[in-house]
Order: sequence, then C-alpha cells, then structure tokens
Amino acid sequence: MKIGIPRALVYYYYYPIWVSMFEELGAEVVISDETSKNMINEGIKLTVQEICVPIKIFNSHVLNLIEKGVDYVFIPRLVSIKKYETFCPKFLGLPDMAKNVFKDFEDRIISPKISSSTDNITNLSSYKEVMKKLNIPSGKMKSALKVASKKFEEFRNLSLKGFTISEILEGKTSGKKPFKNTAPDTVNIGLLGYVYNVYDNFISMDIISKFRSLGVNVVTFDMLSEKEIYKHMGHLNKHLFWTFSNKILGAGMYFLNEDQFDGIIHITAFGCGPDSYIGKMMELDSDKKHKPFLTIRVDEHTGESHLVTRVEAFTDMLKRKKMSQVGRVSV
Ligand code: SF4
Repeated sequence: MKIGIPRALVYYYYYPIWVSMFEELGAEVVISDETSKNMINEGIKLTVQEICVPIKIFNSHVLNLIEKGVDYVFIPRLVSIKKYETFCPKFLGLPDMAKNVFKDFEDRIISPKISSSTDNITNLSSYKEVMKKLNIPSGKMKSALKVASKKFEEFRNLSLKGFTISEILEGKTSGKKPFKNTAPDTVNIGLLGYVYNVYDNFISMDIISKFRSLGVNVVTFDMLSEKEIYKHMGHLNKHLFWTFSNKILGAGMYFLNEDQFDGIIHITAFGCGPDSYIGKMMELDSDKKHKPFLTIRVDEHTGESHLVTRVEAFTDMLKRKKMSQVGRVSV
C-alpha cells in the first residue's frame, strides 16, 4: 500500500512523525517531488487566485502524488496543538479543499482531525481516521506512534542544536556541528517565517544558504524552544489565535530583545492573513528597539535576482553598521 505525503506546508515540521508512523504500519511512503515552477503552474490552475501561495503549492503536491499512483494521500485536518489556539483556518479546511479539487480521489484522502495539547502530535485520538480507513488495530497504531514520537523528539533536538530543517531532512547532521561563523564582526540574523516558506527552497530560493555564503549566521524559530518563544511574548495583552503565527511572533520578539541579533528578516507569502498582524507588530517594535527589520514578500512570480539583491543589501548594511560600532568603518 502506497501512502502519499505532500512535501508542503507543515510536512517540514511533522514529517518525522508521519513518515515513521506509516512505515511502522507497513506502508510504502511516497513523498511528492520538490516544488518546481512547473508544479506551481499546475497548482495555480487548481486553486482560487486570491489564496496564499503555500496553498497553491500544496495542491500541486497532491496532484503530483496522484500522478505517481499512490493509493492514498494523507491530508490531516490540523486543528490545535495548544490550549486556546488553533491552526490558521486554511489548515482547518485543507482536506475539504483537497476533496473538492480532486473529486475523483475524494475517497482516498485520509484526513484525521489532529488535536493535541502539545507540539508532539502523536496522541492516539488524533489518528482514529487512519485506523478506520486502513483497518489498523489500536495496539499496532499505539506502537507506531511511540516510534513516531521518538523520531519527532530526535528531530526537535537537532533543530534546537541549530541545524536547519533542510540539513536534518537531508541527513547532513551526523558527526557534524551546526554552521556558526565565530569571527567577531559576523552578522547574526533572525529569520522569521513559517517552515514551508523558509524550507521550501522554491519559495525561499534557499535564502539560508545565500546568507551563509556571505558568512552570516541565521537563526529560525524552529531552533528556539517553546519556553523561550512564549517567554518573549509575556508583555502582550493577548496572543494571536494561530499557534504557528505565535511561534513566529515570539521568535521575532526574542530576536528583538537579544543583543546578538543585528537584524531581522520576515519572509512572508503574498495573501497571508496572519502574517499581516505579525508584520505590523514587528515593524512597530523594531522601530522602538532601533533594530533593522526587512520584510520579503514572495509569490509565485518572485524572481531570484530580486531576493539576492535584497539579501546582499541588507547584509551589507548590517555589516557596515556593525563595523562602525567597532570603529572600523564610517557610515
Ligand atoms: S498562515 Fe498564512 S501562509 Fe500559512 S496557510 Fe495560513 S494564510 Fe497561508
């Protein structure tokens, strides 16, 4: 039995759970291809124009899996992983949208309702639909989820050490240390953005590698602990409704508060509602803290040269500012 998992959205955060769970259940797991221009063009044809680009991309990944001949596609309905918070509404309605777009495949979309009290979404109750659809006894599912939970903890520990999700996915962590430029005038940037915007190399155009080639250290929200993230949001009267948006906002506040960060970049998708709040809040607070803040808004038409120019200009500005502080250049 072939189970397809779209290489899109929170695949970049939850793949250790879902891949290992299905493998433990004896299924062959098929991941969709890496996002390409051609796939995006197909996604656009299947999706309403005004929706955010990650959702357009998501549809193209589902199509890719169906074309690969999988028996089922796994599209969970992600509801909540924290009390009083939910996922962005697009995640709540994702299986319905997919079933509507891929009508002939509707019965072969597995869409369990994921609702958990923690980031580690391996609670048995969240996978009832998987058990029902694939006729899995609960004992077998419990064992599979136990393995999946361990894989997720290992994955999170590597992120917390400072490895990027791309490095973990590509298995480039064994016996290695995370990238860190230790030269005294090194620029440190806090990079804000959802995992699917930062780690889908077609959307972000591999922005982390671009910074590293300039000797810049980059930290993303997934490299911070939950405790650290929420600690820096303590001064807010209320949090946002959406969990992953809170993770981004909390990371942004951390980057603002910690002196080692010279600047912050927010990579956001055109048409993202939750990011309009984060962007504005970061803009106002970075002004107060006198910390450079840059928004990079991407859509399906964004060109690489546009991104490279902005990355280089921002880095150059931060380097000159930093060197002027140690009296090595005047700005
Ligand atoms: S958080 Fe923004 S980018 Fe992500 S699915 Fe929701 S609207 Fe789209």
